[in-house]
Amino acid sequence: MSTQPGTASNPLRVAIIGSGPSAFYAADHYQKQPGLVVQIDMFDRLPTPFGLVRGGVAPDHAKIKSVTKVYDKIAQHPNFRFFGNVEFGRDLNMADVRKYYHQMVFAVGAQTDKAMGIPGEDLAGSHAATEFVAWYNGHPDYRELQFDLTQERAVVVGVGNVAMDVARILASSYNELVKTDIADYALEALKESKVREILVLARRGPAQAAFTNPEIKELGEMEEADIAVKTDEADLDALSREALQAHPDSTVENNVRILQEYAKRPKQGRKKTIFMRFLVSPVELTGQDRVQTVKIVKNVLHQGSDGSLRPKATDRFETFDAGLVFRSIGYKGVPLPDVPFDEKNGVIPNKQGRVYDPKSEQLVTGVYAAGWIKRGPSGVIGTNKPDAQESVNLAMEDLKAGKVLCSSVSARETVDALLRERKVRFVTYQDWMRLDKLEVENGKKAGRPRVKFTRVEDMLKALGL
Ligand code: NAP
Repeated sequence: MSTQPGTASNPLRVAIIGSGPSAFYAADHYQKQPGLVVQIDMFDRLPTPFGLVRGGVAPDHAKIKSVTKVYDKIAQHPNFRFFGNVEFGRDLNMADVRKYYHQMVFAVGAQTDKAMGIPGEDLAGSHAATEFVAWYNGHPDYRELQFDLTQERAVVVGVGNVAMDVARILASSYNELVKTDIADYALEALKESKVREILVLARRGPAQAAFTNPEIKELGEMEEADIAVKTDEADLDALSREALQAHPDSTVENNVRILQEYAKRPKQGRKKTIFMRFLVSPVELTGQDRVQTVKIVKNVLHQGSDGSLRPKATDRFETFDAGLVFRSIGYKGVPLPDVPFDEKNGVIPNKQGRVYDPKSEQLVTGVYAAGWIKRGPSGVIGTNKPDAQESVNLAMEDLKAGKVLCSSVSARETVDALLRERKVRFVTYQDWMRLDKLEVENGKKAGRPRVKFTRVEDMLKALGL
């Protein structure tokens, strides 16, 4: 084809791998390019779209989830197609994409977690918070996991917003959870939970906590749980005070103020307690067949080479019993077949979204990344909008310069035919809307906002696929 793609007779064909926020914001930005005729095919290995909005955002944060209404609108564009239940690397590979599309965007997020690297971390009862989150959100790959909720004390390592979510879900009452779209099996398991103490461990001080104000406030407003902070740990050390004076930050100031209020708050006698601990790091988990004890070391802060305040272990240790440990110290991306990968940072190597091969340092024509697989696991949902726009703007520059994949097949229907030939039972956006309706209807019957399908087979069966 001689004309540059992007016209009615030769539309720009784009494959987006993944269907979370950054995938939808990338699709949206393509659709908004003036004069560009673009056909977008979005692939997800699950039959359901929305990535972490469905599988990561806490069930009691319904307002955050309502962002999917924006994604629904993007999906209504006549040239948009969703292919759920299609796994990149298995059902569709890099060679296929090169053949069928002019550009592709990886928006696959970060699917695994970072390890603490301490002895005993692999004992039964020690889990990645990301797995617990995926479990209670009904992610089909995680629904069979077992968490021993007969334990009385659970430890959450890390103080980001994921740690806040995990602590809050563990501390929630049945009454609080039943109002949410938490997976039905998780609701039942948590109803019987014997967890009474939740220890949240921060390796640095209150001024360095990664959580944001609404999340730390929520922990102080639980129906069945008190919150406790040690007065000496809520107080700022001299270095943190100086740093905050030099660089005032209202989020940090509010976090510190809220924690200091918690330190003064008398116990209300609720049946559970969330203990927030600061300047402590786990150094070892021990137990016969499963985690029984956690050893922590007290830290002090010192100025790191980059000017930030870093934790330094002292020789003061504490050991306490705990039967459940959730490490919540960050997500990490995983490599995809035939796609460059930066192991150290867990991302696809890229320059502002343009993917490059780290060996040759050459850009890979027509291939882009957006979201967590581009920049790492940081920021809120909205952060992915400018992030995806940056990648698509560069894709547009490349298109103008004629740098696109050498797609040799121009009919869009050939992708469907290929998947059918491979016996892939793919799910369209219309199918997803039917599933969505069924979930809401099932929710109504149970007096809940939604009851999720949590098995791929059940989803396909409900759709008659
Ligand atoms: P995060 O915000 O990066 O927090 C990671 C936490 O782990 C930090 O407290 C960090 O402490 C700690 N940590 C890292 N390595 C550690 C180690 N070896 N030992 C002990 N602690 C360690 O990550 P996240 O909680 O996974 O969240 C990911 C992103 O999603 C964040 O941007 C978050 O805001 C966002 N998110 C938002 C919401 C919401 O809006 N409600 C909900 C969930 C997630 P240091 O600071 O000392 O490194």
